[in-house]
Amino acid sequence: MTEAYRRETTAAARAVGADPGHRAVAPPIHLSATYRWEDPRIKPSYDYGRSGNPTRTELQGALAELEGAAGCVVSGSGMAAIDLTLCLVPAGGRVIAPHDCYGGTYRLFEARARKGQFDVAFVDQTDDAAYEQALQGGADLVLIETPSNPLLRIVDIERRAAQAKAAGAIVVADNTFLSPARQRPLELGCDIVVHSTTKFINGHSDVVGGATLAKDAAIAEELAWWANCTGVTGAAFDSYLTLRGLRTLFPRIAAQEASAGVIAERLHADKRAARVYYPGLKNHPGHDTAARQQSGFGSMLSVELGPEVDPIEFVKALRLFTIAESLGGFESLVCLPAAMTHASMSPEARRTAGISETLIRFSVGLEHCDDLLADIDQALAAAARGAPAYASTEQYAATACSG
Ligand code: PLP
Repeated sequence: MTEAYRRETTAAARAVGADPGHRAVAPPIHLSATYRWEDPRIKPSYDYGRSGNPTRTELQGALAELEGAAGCVVSGSGMAAIDLTLCLVPAGGRVIAPHDCYGGTYRLFEARARKGQFDVAFVDQTDDAAYEQALQGGADLVLIETPSNPLLRIVDIERRAAQAKAAGAIVVADNTFLSPARQRPLELGCDIVVHSTTKFINGHSDVVGGATLAKDAAIAEELAWWANCTGVTGAAFDSYLTLRGLRTLFPRIAAQEASAGVIAERLHADKRAARVYYPGLKNHPGHDTAARQQSGFGSMLSVELGPEVDPIEFVKALRLFTIAESLGGFESLVCLPAAMTHASMSPEARRTAGISETLIRFSVGLEHCDDLLADIDQALAAAARGAPAYASTEQYAATACSG
């Protein structure tokens, strides 16, 4: 689309009816692995599926427009998208990442650092002194993840990106928890945005995919070169489904976040919940920053239950929230990060990040909010246990989670 449309329109309408072959309204899927050349001396615009694919191009174009990027690489997973950014780090370089990032990201950075490819420092990016100290030795790449997974910590993107850039780093933001419908890190000073498109962007829990988007055309080109070189580019069928999912991104996230806000408020007021982590709550330490840099609070929340409820029995008693990893789909999910999404972090790293063994993370879906509230209520009742092991809810919360 050449005109400047609103982002809702880009998501819904980009490439609609643009098929030059048969004037198909829904952009067609191109599955061919290879393309015919007219003349062996003249390279066609598409020559081989790893290097380029028209269906992937449509998705890349839509995502680039939504994030305000010069270019986009769609890859086979969110981890591939994040790993692609590490191709920009020189040998022996320095990487700074959040101490409470997604467990798979933590594992990747730690494993590559152990191989001697670069040094990594995991830092609490909400802590001014710790962040400044980490930057003192210089940095080649800084990863920001906000809201963080699973504690929904909020990092001031503009401030942290400016500090990182002053230290000479490329700044990467993982925007998976909000999508461009709610946060645009490139406008706030980041160089690169990464996504697990598995989550909100596809939104239907039937594709694992990723995207790496760069503000600057030269960086976008370098990323595309590496993606072709290392072979991480995404499959045509996945791109087709993800573009289809993207059509409804804005109405999906609006409905899901409306329910998440109600659930967070309800749990916050419920004595059986010791602590609720949701940036939309006024008492959340990142509330003001989130209100400034996000256009909504999203549909993810985490909770520490009080001593009178068994967290394992609670998640097992839920009927509408399926116990599963992942998030951002149309369906409500629940997980225990320590045992599931963040199991690849050492218990010590989880403790440092404030991720307790009993923390529960919800991804709120499109079911009716009242049904979700009733489900939580019945599960809290079903999981109630006898004598509390702790003297008070406050004492329990203090031991369960330091974050
Ligand atoms: N980034 C975040 C914030 C995530 O939550 C995840 C997965 O849960 C990833 C990246 C990795 O994405 P994928 O599972 O698509 O590789």
